[in-house]
Amino acid sequence: PSRRPSAASTEPLHILDEVFGYSAFRGRQREIVDHVVGGGDALVLMPTGGGKSLCYQVPAIARHRRGQGVAIVVSPLIALMHDQVGALEEVGVHAAFLNSTLSLEQAQHVEREMMSGRLTLLYAAPERVTTPRFLAQLDSLHERGLLSLFAIDEAHCVSQWGHDFRSEYLGLSVLHERYPAVPRIALTATADEHTRADIIERLQLQDAQVFISSFDRPNIRYLIVEKDNPRAQLLRFIRDEHEGEAGVVYCQSRKKVEETAAWLSGEGIAALPYHAGLDAAVRQRHQDRFLREEGLVMVATIAFGMGIDKPDVRFVAHLDLPKNIESYYQETGRAGRDGAPAEAWMAYGLADVVNQRRMIDESPAGDDFKRVQRGKLDALLALAETHECRRVRLLGYFGEASEPCGNCDNCLQPPATWDATEAARKVLSCIYRFRQHGGGYGPSAFGAGHLIDVLRGKNTDKVAQYRHETLSTFGIGADLSEQQWRSVLRQLVALGHVVAEGEFNTLGLTESARNVLRGEVQLQLRVAAETKRAGRSGRVA
Ligand code: ADP
Ligand code: ZN
Repeated sequence: PSRRPSAASTEPLHILDEVFGYSAFRGRQREIVDHVVGGGDALVLMPTGGGKSLCYQVPAIARHRRGQGVAIVVSPLIALMHDQVGALEEVGVHAAFLNSTLSLEQAQHVEREMMSGRLTLLYAAPERVTTPRFLAQLDSLHERGLLSLFAIDEAHCVSQWGHDFRSEYLGLSVLHERYPAVPRIALTATADEHTRADIIERLQLQDAQVFISSFDRPNIRYLIVEKDNPRAQLLRFIRDEHEGEAGVVYCQSRKKVEETAAWLSGEGIAALPYHAGLDAAVRQRHQDRFLREEGLVMVATIAFGMGIDKPDVRFVAHLDLPKNIESYYQETGRAGRDGAPAEAWMAYGLADVVNQRRMIDESPAGDDFKRVQRGKLDALLALAETHECRRVRLLGYFGEASEPCGNCDNCLQPPATWDATEAARKVLSCIYRFRQHGGGYGPSAFGAGHLIDVLRGKNTDKVAQYRHETLSTFGIGADLSEQQWRSVLRQLVALGHVVAEGEFNTLGLTESARNVLRGEVQLQLRVAAETKRAGRSGRVA
């Protein structure tokens, strides 16, 4: 039986307790709620799972109880509206949504509830909110003092810099122009400076108070492993740590999503695929099952994500490298929204680095844009390669200083490092000698496999064909295993001394390699992870 919040208190803490059953506000929620209840504008930057919804739901209830009418919540996602409205009605708050899934009668009913001011919250998509018809309805509410506030969820959608730009968001500035006295609260989990400035400008929030929460998700443990045999590594991770728990596995391509989901299922893990190439009905069914059933693993492209409000996702795994740190943060942030321990796991290898670089190179974007993208990728690689605290790096990227966390792989098991200056010079000079006419910088005609064969002094057909046994670098690396060389090479690529490019991922040297070759810099690299299985595993580049 739901409790009806009729002749009830307008004090936020009472509402929190009586309606939502929570005893205390979290973080800055209290400040934000008070500010909005008092009629101020707010821009709220809070990580996923931080509790953004209550920041406008509690004010909406308080203002409604004071007779100030209906709160309009702008939300880009139909699924999210359904979930939120369902949850609110369940606790006795009169809420509804207007979207294309309603029949004419249903929509008319919702409109009547709204226009009477009985409704506490109305959810609607931005394209609806800005129609002349809807604005006329808002005018009428406003004239009668029944427009209590505007909440603009996923506010980063207004920014082209963000990852989910939606042009319909641009029209939302009309709300401020038309109803300057009605408080507005914009909310997002996207932290970076660019996007923030864009939101303020485009939604005309210059006078809004900005509430920035820490982006730390202390309950998420970050783990980044070297790719060896990624499927087997993933399976071990799920079986050892997350048997029977809900999780998301991100892959880059649709094909890989399908294959991985089928493979996991074959291994007895309940897994479903999700990507934009699937039938809309299938996608919806898989999403619904993931949300409602327990312990399902969703194998997905990034098409699966924004607004997936499932509190008990216990892990997010990346089988491919995300685009940049923002994406990594967003995607891993879908784990542990309930605050209980969760893990963000990623396997990465040289091929990932090469792939991402190629995708940037081959994209039709302009040079400036590509330069920004490359810089962002480098920051992500530095996160993957660091032997220091992952969280310090991650938060540092968002401008937040912190201390080693004690809850990431590097803190829990500090990785061994070694002075790899000599090894690096061997790699670089070998690539240098691959160049015809006496060596040099720029691309060579050879890839990682051949490089390692030459370093280790293997007499392969290719070595014979190019007479590479005559190179001075032939066999100078017999002291390290193939796996160890691969690790050195990957780190050199991540550090930007070596590039792998073209159709065959041929290796080349960059300008920065010069300093290493000359012995001017000392290189401390991670020790390669022990290979647990015999034989050749993950291919390199
Ligand atoms: P966000 O939209 O920021 O990702 P939500 O609003 O969905 O986060 O909240 C995440 C979870 O935290 C929800 O399950 C919510 O009920 C819970 N939550 C939020 N605020 C509190 C609070 N003050 N006390 C207890 N639980 C809370
Ligand atoms: Zn740490």
